[in-house]
Amino acid sequence: MRAKALCCAVFTVLGLFFAALPARAATILVYHSFGVRSSMSISLPAFEAQLDFLEKNGNKVIGVDELATTIAAGKNPPDGAVVIAIDDGWATVMAAFEVLKRRNLPFVVFLPMAYTANPYCKVTLSQADIEKLRAYPKVVFADHSFSHSPKLAKSEEFARDDVRKSRERFRQVLGFDTKYFAYPYGAVSESYTRALREAGYEYLFVTGDSPVSATTKVTAIPRIAANKLSVNVLASVLRNHAVVMAKAKATPAPAAAAPGPDPTLASAAPADPSPRAVE
Ligand SMILES: [Zn+2]
Repeated sequence: MRAKALCCAVFTVLGLFFAALPARAATILVYHSFGVRSSMSISLPAFEAQLDFLEKNGNKVIGVDELATTIAAGKNPPDGAVVIAIDDGWATVMAAFEVLKRRNLPFVVFLPMAYTANPYCKVTLSQADIEKLRAYPKVVFADHSFSHSPKLAKSEEFARDDVRKSRERFRQVLGFDTKYFAYPYGAVSESYTRALREAGYEYLFVTGDSPVSATTKVTAIPRIAANKLSVNVLASVLRNHAVVMAKAKATPAPAAAAPGPDPTLASAAPADPSPRAVE
């Protein structure tokens, strides 16, 4: 009887100890263009201010490879880790690249392949830009569809054709296949996901405010649009992610992950408003 009481006491103490450990989650920040007049753009000073804040706040910027392998292994990423993603392959990526290279930070570019290294598109990354980027060891190239069309999540036939073209074009431009894909406009459908998985994409990125952790499905990794976040709002997004994780940690995890968004995380929505659109 005494042994049983002792056991209970030990488990209670252990439970309190683990509950007090910091929750470990990462946040993926998505950008589009830099220093131009567009609702999707961020000024370079504002971008630098965000990066200054991350550094001061102790948020480590990690590469998408580290995040992906960590969560695929069912482990939590480093506490407060941040991944920087840039979508759409605008030529202004090169301005952000100068900033990121100077700070020696990793980042991932999600490219719409019809417009990438296309000599008829002057406002997107050229093949020469791609070569400059690939000389930097901390950049990862990822797919963001061929056409970037809103039709992708609506027509299976259109999506399958687009996936094939994107895969082919990516290989032509980069010389290898990628396992990373971000849905244009964050628009998902079952048939589109199936086509992507069958084509070999392992990590699919969606739009969402949730933190990324061991419980995140690799086929629905949430990213948050960061171009409109003031430093204060960015701080609250990161704080909220820690709160969401702490709440999720206090709730026993289900035995098997159910399809769809993690209900534990979905019920603990961040209190602060933040821009949602990721295109
Ligand atoms: Zn996009």
